[in-house]
Amino acid sequence: MKAEGFRRIADGALAVLLAPACAACKQALDHPTAGPVCGACWAAVAPITPPMCDRCGDPLPSWRIISLAHSRCARCRRRASHVVRTRAIGAYEGSLRSIVHALKYDGRRSVARALADAMRRHGSEVLDGADLCVPVPLHPLRRYSRGFNQADELARHLGVRRAPALKRVRRTSAQADLPEAQRHANVRGAFCVRRRVAVQGLVVVLIDDVSTTGATMDACAQALLEAGAAEVRGLTAAKAVSRRS
Ligand SMILES: [Zn+2]
Ligand SMILES: [Zn+2]
Repeated sequence: MKAEGFRRIADGALAVLLAPACAACKQALDHPTAGPVCGACWAAVAPITPPMCDRCGDPLPSWRIISLAHSRCARCRRRASHVVRTRAIGAYEGSLRSIVHALKYDGRRSVARALADAMRRHGSEVLDGADLCVPVPLHPLRRYSRGFNQADELARHLGVRRAPALKRVRRTSAQADLPEAQRHANVRGAFCVRRRVAVQGLVVVLIDDVSTTGATMDACAQALLEAGAAEVRGLTAAKAVSRRS
């Protein structure tokens, strides 16, 4: 009760003195001590709910769950993957897209903890039993110009040991600029495991802010498996969902 009273006073004082704005919608925050994103923005995030593709987490039409054989989307049935299962909070659109942008482009690193909390809630299927979280690395030049790697900021708060086990060994074109068919070729062989990080026999969860076709995750997973990882899973804040399952 006492703490709640104090928080109310602190919220009031912060709101008046600093008028901090929501990192996503830029409206003034009523409860600044509750985090950098307002309650309305969190409430507007649409989570991906079952039925979903068992492997990539894309939503599936409900008739698909009739049999386990149909628990994968069209893309995952077409193409093998080195990642056994990927999950995300929700689709990369609307409110969640704004929240991810606040982290990535506005440099609001305080958003990472709140997003990671939501990733823990939606990602128990991949975090349970995991040994290590590994952020998808940025190219060093991009890491330098942004000042931080958003994937690493998310990985810090997931409650599983984290290690920057991967590095980019060559620069790649931005995946978003390429048609889907070229994305796997673009990132193939672009990552390798750092020699001083042991992944042998471990269940590893790759962490990123957004996944689109899963090509980047797949290339990272291949490098981890070649270095001896027992299994690779994926967890992202958002997922660009394909609507043609
Ligand atoms: Zn907001
Ligand atoms: Zn799928």
